[in-house]
Amino acid sequence: MAVMRNRPIPGSSGLVRTMSLLGDPVLHSACEPVTDFGPSLARLVEDMFATMYEAQGVGLAANQVGVPLRVFVYDCPDDEDVRHLGHVVNPTLVEADGITVRGPEGCLSLPGLEAGTPRFDHAVVEGLTAEGEPVRISGTGFFARCLQHECDHLDGAVYTDRLTGLRRARALRAARRAPWGRAG
Ligand SMILES: [Zn+2]
Repeated sequence: MAVMRNRPIPGSSGLVRTMSLLGDPVLHSACEPVTDFGPSLARLVEDMFATMYEAQGVGLAANQVGVPLRVFVYDCPDDEDVRHLGHVVNPTLVEADGITVRGPEGCLSLPGLEAGTPRFDHAVVEGLTAEGEPVRISGTGFFARCLQHECDHLDGAVYTDRLTGLRRARALRAARRAPWGRAG
Protein backbone atom coordinates (compact mmCIF):
# COMPACT_ATOMS: atom_id res chain seq x y z
CA MET A 1 0.00 0.00 0.00
CA ALA A 2 1.26 3.41 -0.86
CA VAL A 3 1.03 6.28 1.54
CA MET A 4 0.34 9.72 0.15
CA ARG A 5 2.68 12.27 1.56
CA ASN A 6 2.53 16.03 1.27
CA ARG A 7 6.29 16.30 1.52
CA PRO A 8 9.23 14.06 0.78
CA ILE A 9 10.76 12.16 3.71
CA PRO A 10 13.49 14.34 5.27
CA GLY A 11 16.94 13.29 4.11
CA SER A 12 15.68 11.08 1.28
CA SER A 13 17.40 13.26 -1.31
CA GLY A 14 20.32 14.21 0.95
CA LEU A 15 23.93 13.15 0.81
CA VAL A 16 25.70 11.67 3.80
CA ARG A 17 28.46 14.04 4.88
CA THR A 18 31.60 13.25 6.89
CA MET A 19 31.12 13.37 10.67
CA SER A 20 33.39 15.68 12.68
CA LEU A 21 34.79 13.92 15.74
CA LEU A 22 35.72 15.14 19.21
CA GLY A 23 38.85 17.28 19.00
CA ASP A 24 38.00 18.74 15.57
CA PRO A 25 38.16 22.54 16.09
CA VAL A 26 34.80 23.04 14.33
CA LEU A 27 33.11 21.26 17.27
CA HIS A 28 34.78 23.43 19.86
CA SER A 29 33.94 26.92 18.69
CA ALA A 30 30.61 28.74 18.44
CA CYS A 31 28.73 28.61 15.13
CA GLU A 32 27.68 31.68 13.14
CA PRO A 33 24.03 32.68 12.63
CA VAL A 34 22.56 31.81 9.23
CA THR A 35 21.95 34.89 7.05
CA ASP A 36 21.41 33.20 3.66
CA PHE A 37 18.11 31.31 3.48
CA GLY A 38 18.74 30.19 -0.11
CA PRO A 39 18.91 26.71 -1.65
CA SER A 40 22.25 25.87 -0.02
CA LEU A 41 20.56 26.00 3.41
CA ALA A 42 17.80 23.61 2.29
CA ARG A 43 20.50 21.33 0.89
CA LEU A 44 22.42 21.46 4.18
CA VAL A 45 19.31 20.51 6.20
CA GLU A 46 18.55 17.65 3.80
CA ASP A 47 22.15 16.37 3.98
CA MET A 48 22.08 16.65 7.78
CA PHE A 49 18.99 14.43 7.95
CA ALA A 50 20.63 11.89 5.64
CA THR A 51 23.80 11.93 7.78
CA MET A 52 21.88 11.65 11.06
CA TYR A 53 19.79 8.70 9.82
CA GLU A 54 22.85 6.94 8.35
CA ALA A 55 24.54 7.18 11.77
CA GLN A 56 21.31 6.17 13.57
CA GLY A 57 21.32 9.36 15.62
CA VAL A 58 18.41 11.32 17.08
CA GLY A 59 19.89 14.79 16.55
CA LEU A 60 22.67 16.46 14.57
CA ALA A 61 24.17 19.95 14.60
CA ALA A 62 25.68 21.55 11.48
CA ASN A 63 29.19 21.77 12.92
CA GLN A 64 29.10 17.97 13.28
CA VAL A 65 29.29 17.87 9.48
CA GLY A 66 31.93 20.60 9.44
CA VAL A 67 29.61 23.55 8.73
CA PRO A 68 29.94 26.28 11.40
CA LEU A 69 26.35 27.54 11.11
CA ARG A 70 23.55 27.61 13.70
CA VAL A 71 21.34 24.77 12.41
CA PHE A 72 20.29 21.45 13.89
CA VAL A 73 17.98 18.59 12.90
CA TYR A 74 16.27 16.01 15.10
CA ASP A 75 14.11 12.90 14.99
CA CYS A 76 13.86 12.03 18.63
CA PRO A 77 11.40 10.34 21.00
CA ASP A 78 10.50 11.77 24.37
CA ASP A 79 9.98 9.69 27.51
CA GLU A 80 6.36 8.99 26.45
CA ASP A 81 7.60 7.66 23.08
CA VAL A 82 6.14 10.60 21.18
CA ARG A 83 8.27 11.23 18.09
CA HIS A 84 9.60 14.74 17.45
CA LEU A 85 10.91 15.43 13.95
CA GLY A 86 12.19 18.68 12.51
CA HIS A 87 14.96 21.19 12.05
CA VAL A 88 15.69 24.68 13.37
CA VAL A 89 17.83 27.53 12.11
CA ASN A 90 19.33 30.14 14.47
CA PRO A 91 17.84 28.47 17.56
CA THR A 92 17.77 30.06 20.98
CA LEU A 93 17.22 27.99 24.10
CA VAL A 94 14.53 30.23 25.63
CA GLU A 95 13.58 27.92 28.49
CA ALA A 96 15.52 25.17 30.28
CA ASP A 97 14.08 24.40 33.68
CA GLY A 98 12.34 21.88 35.87
CA ILE A 99 14.22 19.16 37.66
CA THR A 100 17.72 18.18 36.57
CA VAL A 101 18.04 14.58 35.46
CA ARG A 102 21.31 12.71 35.04
CA GLY A 103 20.75 10.29 32.16
CA PRO A 104 22.81 8.41 29.60
CA GLU A 105 23.83 10.66 26.74
CA GLY A 106 25.79 9.90 23.60
CA CYS A 107 26.91 11.91 20.58
CA LEU A 108 27.59 11.03 16.95
CA SER A 109 30.90 12.91 17.32
CA LEU A 110 31.98 10.52 20.11
CA PRO A 111 30.77 7.28 18.51
CA GLY A 112 30.23 4.28 20.76
CA LEU A 113 30.48 6.22 24.02
CA GLU A 114 27.96 7.54 26.50
CA ALA A 115 28.01 9.06 29.95
CA GLY A 116 25.46 10.05 32.57
CA THR A 117 24.98 13.76 31.88
CA PRO A 118 22.83 16.22 33.83
CA ARG A 119 20.13 18.07 31.86
CA PHE A 120 16.96 19.96 32.61
CA ASP A 121 13.78 17.93 32.14
CA HIS A 122 12.04 20.69 30.17
CA ALA A 123 13.36 22.84 27.33
CA VAL A 124 11.97 25.25 24.74
CA VAL A 125 13.83 26.37 21.62
CA GLU A 126 12.79 29.20 19.31
CA GLY A 127 14.21 29.81 15.87
CA LEU A 128 13.37 29.70 12.19
CA THR A 129 12.74 27.07 9.55
CA ALA A 130 14.94 26.87 6.45
CA GLU A 131 12.19 28.91 4.75
CA GLY A 132 12.56 31.64 7.38
CA GLU A 133 9.29 30.93 9.23
CA PRO A 134 9.32 31.20 13.04
CA VAL A 135 9.26 27.93 14.92
CA ARG A 136 8.95 27.07 18.62
CA ILE A 137 9.90 23.60 19.84
CA SER A 138 9.01 22.38 23.30
CA GLY A 139 10.34 19.18 24.82
CA THR A 140 10.43 17.13 27.98
CA GLY A 141 12.50 14.17 29.12
CA PHE A 142 14.82 12.67 26.52
CA PHE A 143 13.72 15.15 23.86
CA ALA A 144 14.46 18.08 26.20
CA ARG A 145 17.92 16.50 26.64
CA CYS A 146 18.32 16.39 22.85
CA LEU A 147 17.37 20.08 22.47
CA GLN A 148 19.91 21.13 25.12
CA HIS A 149 22.58 18.85 23.59
CA GLU A 150 22.14 20.32 20.09
CA CYS A 151 22.07 23.94 21.35
CA ASP A 152 25.31 23.21 23.21
CA HIS A 153 26.91 22.02 19.93
CA LEU A 154 26.12 25.35 18.28
CA ASP A 155 27.84 27.13 21.16
CA GLY A 156 30.93 24.94 20.68
CA ALA A 157 30.26 22.55 23.58
CA VAL A 158 29.94 18.76 23.67
CA TYR A 159 28.37 16.71 26.46
CA THR A 160 31.71 15.93 28.10
CA ASP A 161 31.94 19.69 28.81
CA ARG A 162 28.87 19.22 31.07
CA LEU A 163 30.61 16.54 33.15
CA THR A 164 32.74 17.18 36.19
CA GLY A 165 35.22 15.28 38.33
CA LEU A 166 35.67 11.57 37.92
CA ARG A 167 32.84 11.27 35.37
CA ARG A 168 34.55 13.79 33.12
CA ALA A 169 37.96 12.15 33.51
CA ARG A 170 36.49 8.74 32.69
CA ALA A 171 34.64 10.02 29.62
CA LEU A 172 37.69 11.80 28.23
CA ARG A 173 39.90 8.76 28.82
CA ALA A 174 37.37 6.55 27.00
CA ALA A 175 37.34 9.05 24.12
CA ARG A 176 41.15 9.01 23.87
CA ARG A 177 41.17 5.21 23.82
CA ALA A 178 38.31 4.86 21.32
CA PRO A 179 39.20 3.57 17.83
CA TRP A 180 38.64 7.08 16.44
CA GLY A 181 40.41 8.75 19.41
CA ARG A 182 43.64 10.65 19.44
CA ALA A 183 45.54 8.50 21.92
CA GLY A 184 47.96 7.54 19.12
ZN1 LIG B 1 26.19 15.53 19.76
